[in-house]
Amino acid sequence: MPEYLDQEITYLPGVGPKRAELLNKELRIFSFRDLLYYFPYKYIDRTKFHRIAEVNANQAYIQVKGKVRTFEVLGDRRKQRLNAVFYDETGSMELVWFKGVKYIRESLKLEQTYVAFGKPSVFNGRVNIIHPEMEDEHSEQFKTGVLQAFYNTTETLKKRFLNTRAINKLQFNLLQSLGGKIYETLPPQVKEPLKLMALNEALKQVHFPENTRSLHNATFRLKFEELFYIQLKIVSLKHKRYDVFKGFVFSQVGFNFNKFYEDNLPFELTGAQKKVIREIRKDLGSGKQMNRLLQGDVGSGKTLVALMVALIAFDNGYQASLMAPTEILAIQHFNTIRKMVQGLGINMALLTGSTKTKERKLIHEQLESGELQLLVGTHALIEDTVNFKKLGLVIIDEQHRFGVAQRAKLWKKNTGVPPHVLVMTATPIPRTLAMTLYGDLDVSVIDELPPGRKPIDTRHFFENRRKQVYGFIRKQVDAGRQVYMVYPLISESEKLDLKNLEDGYELMKEVFPRYKISMVHGRMKPAEKDAEMQLFKEGKTQIMVATTVIEVGVDVPNASVMVIESAERFGLSQLHQLRGRVGRGAEQSFCLLMSSYKISNESRKRLETMVRTNDGFEIAEVDLQLRGPGDLEGTQQSGLGFDLKIANLGKDGEILRIARDMANDILDEDPRLEQEKNKLLLYHLSKMKNTEFNWSIIS
Ligand code: ADP
Ligand code: MG
Repeated sequence: MPEYLDQEITYLPGVGPKRAELLNKELRIFSFRDLLYYFPYKYIDRTKFHRIAEVNANQAYIQVKGKVRTFEVLGDRRKQRLNAVFYDETGSMELVWFKGVKYIRESLKLEQTYVAFGKPSVFNGRVNIIHPEMEDEHSEQFKTGVLQAFYNTTETLKKRFLNTRAINKLQFNLLQSLGGKIYETLPPQVKEPLKLMALNEALKQVHFPENTRSLHNATFRLKFEELFYIQLKIVSLKHKRYDVFKGFVFSQVGFNFNKFYEDNLPFELTGAQKKVIREIRKDLGSGKQMNRLLQGDVGSGKTLVALMVALIAFDNGYQASLMAPTEILAIQHFNTIRKMVQGLGINMALLTGSTKTKERKLIHEQLESGELQLLVGTHALIEDTVNFKKLGLVIIDEQHRFGVAQRAKLWKKNTGVPPHVLVMTATPIPRTLAMTLYGDLDVSVIDELPPGRKPIDTRHFFENRRKQVYGFIRKQVDAGRQVYMVYPLISESEKLDLKNLEDGYELMKEVFPRYKISMVHGRMKPAEKDAEMQLFKEGKTQIMVATTVIEVGVDVPNASVMVIESAERFGLSQLHQLRGRVGRGAEQSFCLLMSSYKISNESRKRLETMVRTNDGFEIAEVDLQLRGPGDLEGTQQSGLGFDLKIANLGKDGEILRIARDMANDILDEDPRLEQEKNKLLLYHLSKMKNTEFNWSIIS
């Protein structure tokens, strides 16, 4: 059903081809619907009128009711200015326009009552308002709303008189012309239990609120709807996946798992590790394909969980693969695991971009014959030439580096039944975001660190304390510890960044002539990088100067100090990730955040948060609030795009939860939305932009 709302914006009274082009270009408003769903970013209370005698320049937006006594056009033709003396019974003030002088002069009448609205300022000792909005107090539009909506516009639009007021007028025209002909998009079984406002009314109230209550109800309804359909989509995909994909049944725990548990496990599992392993085992026995996200803060022991799950796969005669985002990490996983499974006789191999052809060929053969049980590697794993005999489990470490599409590629490694998938991430994701980003996955959380970990002592230093910081480093290194020094990527140019890092390296050599210093950055060849890392790991160098390439996963327990240079330039999750590189051994560890004096409020908040807490989830929440979800790591790859028009994942977590529950209830009862009462839902779902979640393999 093509709707009235799908009409091109040019046909709206007050628009026309020229304005339509501007609206297309600047605001991506193409249709009536686009305009209607172009929501205000703020509202200003217009219930209160100020008297002119009370107006002063400290006030925010105000309105005064009065009349124009005189006009005066000043300046020359190129730089015209219009001054109006505006008065009420308490006094007078100036209204000033620099643009549209002729138009305004002609449209305003002397000695007629207007409401002038704007932000007061002072010029030559007199209070004035520059570019006030003038309104006839009897105008119909004025009466429709007491909270004035403000819309984002652009400089280009403002120059062409499409300011927030003009957009407000267009909204008014649109609502008039629609005359209530807006089809409801939510069926009664959704609307009624939540007492949601009708769409028609909500759209009117959001642009022209009658009072704060109606605005609140309207906003709630619109945010709910937006989040609800996303959740409905995600949850229905999950249902589809359950329908379509059978999973291998790992029915038994056998020799590998048991022997490992009894003989090899060097410590007691934490309660959280046990809980998560139980959750995973339940999936593996269910006959459905597992798709689980394992979240756990840095150092919470995810690798061990992954290994034990892999052992279950071997016990049931399946192969497993573990994929890491970098070569350093893949090597590290390989070595750690090889050590841990000693005596079990597990056949494992490492496959990365640098694996030699001959060895690679052997690996391929052994994978196909089924001899090889565990393959650890990088992206090289998803190359098409790699084929498994019986791949039962795929583990992906540090999820945020892999896109959804890459995950999907792994699924296809088997014809028929896809392997179980366990995705691990150390970037804690706030629940609200996880529900949306990874809503198609089940989520397990390791919310406990192994015992005995001392919280990392984090401090913030300004430049003037640099000497003390060096002194501290010296003490630590003399006591046998090792130190990371991380430099940010500052400029757009790789060359300059490298210079920045190299300067840092030279400086360290000067300051610490007795110590051996390593350097690692993204432009080095993988082999060189690994060699440097290895030197540091073996304690042959004491200080590691690096870019964020060391952000993920490397494990050097003896390193107890993390110095982050220009810390104000890093995002919160990155700072937390970097800090996680220390605190892995028995020693008290430190994170020193260096910054210049001039830092923004947001940077200050980030550094304060780091100093205050070690809790990754708390940090993730602050991050979400500071940055908004669009910027959080991983969201770009989500395929969702996050072009939310009104809801905000950082702030609307509660509404999201309600939407999620509602979507679950509906789909539990009617997974394919086949019932008559759910027809409307199915219709809107089918109209939604296909997200990346909708992989072709589902069809
Ligand atoms: P992450 O979750 O960041 O990947 P790792 O798996 O690398 O964490 O584990 C961090 C360190 O903690 C490793 O040295 C690992 O051996 C150790 N570890 C894991 N589980 C436990 C446990 N239950 N008790 C003590 N140490 C543990
Ligand atoms: Mg890890």
